[in-house]
Amino acid sequence: MNASNLKAAGGCGHDGPALPLEQARERILERVEPVSGRHQVALRDALGRILAAPVSAAIDVPNYTNSAMDGYAVRAADVAETGAQLHQVGESFAGHPFAGRVESGQCVRIMTGAVLPEGADSVVMQERTEVEGDRVRFAQACQPGANVRLAGEDVASGQMVFEAGHRIDSADLGVLASVGAAEVGVRALPRVAFFSTGDEIVPVGQPLAPGKIHDSNRHTLFGLLTELGVEVHDLGIVPDVPEALDAALQRASSFDAVMTTGGVSVGAADYVLEALEKAGSVGFWQVAMKPGRPLAFGNLGPALFFGLPGNPVSAMVTFIQLVRPALVKLAGASPAATLAFEVPTRSAISKKRGRREFQRGRLVMTEQGPVVEPFGHQGSGVLRSMSAADCFINLAPEESSIEAGANVRVEPFSQPIWNRG
Ligand code: AMP
Ligand code: MG
Repeated sequence: MNASNLKAAGGCGHDGPALPLEQARERILERVEPVSGRHQVALRDALGRILAAPVSAAIDVPNYTNSAMDGYAVRAADVAETGAQLHQVGESFAGHPFAGRVESGQCVRIMTGAVLPEGADSVVMQERTEVEGDRVRFAQACQPGANVRLAGEDVASGQMVFEAGHRIDSADLGVLASVGAAEVGVRALPRVAFFSTGDEIVPVGQPLAPGKIHDSNRHTLFGLLTELGVEVHDLGIVPDVPEALDAALQRASSFDAVMTTGGVSVGAADYVLEALEKAGSVGFWQVAMKPGRPLAFGNLGPALFFGLPGNPVSAMVTFIQLVRPALVKLAGASPAATLAFEVPTRSAISKKRGRREFQRGRLVMTEQGPVVEPFGHQGSGVLRSMSAADCFINLAPEESSIEAGANVRVEPFSQPIWNRG
């Protein structure tokens, strides 16, 4: 079916009008192949990057059995009862192990992180002891193994610490350092380009002639892509002129993924679908969701193409729901399942049956527990609803209007995006 027939049929191409969101997400993910490039980088340069190969530990962490406390290393059998007294024969400091062996009747003063001396099996914390010269009296009986950190208890030598496809965060940098990984192999960053379409769109910083508006979409997309950690390429603004769009799509096809906003609905100046058909191929058009119904997905040569709606809220919602998971897979990782839970809504919500809606709300803590406060104006042009909100209220197609106090499904904007295995 060509673009004009598709528009006349009012929908997505194969299954009648407007694809359900879940199907749209699946159809997109099916088409995504992770970027093939990979390189070896110094550990710190791996922050936010995706591992190209699994990493296994070549050493135990910790690599020697050590003390979890400042105190005395003992043989627990010697301190089986309160009041035991032992002879202190030396000291074990972090980085300066005790060279000898702890025999029965003896103890060694030990600091946190210092090697547990041979012969000792436990540590009694300093606060439970009294010292007189080289005699130490123990105010408490000691359990075997007390206050000892065993070699390999964090990571055992040979253990896989991260699988390929794992995204490296700050804790992971530390884990990799602890196993001695000075360099790691990571995937190349996906190269992601975007541009705005519309004769009315003017860059911020320029005066607005009558009928013109500032381009907000390129700024929200810049933010969303930068937060995601892909390589961001801003291609500017393209007017509603078919030849200009054709040329822009041609130029953009050298990237791994391309996004446009606007011009993808049924208006007389909406040319994106036609241009996609000429420059590449249309996968589907239109998703049964609000905001965000007009969304075109396809390919520009090997590049993934997402024609997002022009309305600023719709552009953000479709990015979060459909584009972001695809970019996660493109980066070589897998998208995390959405974190959602049910809370009562503070005010009534109006909704039509038959499509999924992502209304914007704010979570509020009350004496009765968390509730969600829907944002007042849910229009898809009211970008402040995204800015003021901290969660989506995800309303299923079969739901209709909801009374105040009824439970709704909320999905915080702060979400796990990358599956952590
Ligand atoms: P369209 O999908 O092109 O019909 O655009 C839908 C609505 O979104 C119109 O009101 C446009 O003016 C507005 N719009 C389109 N692109 C942008 C943009 N880049 N920034 C802000 N608003 C936009
Ligand atoms: Mg437009």
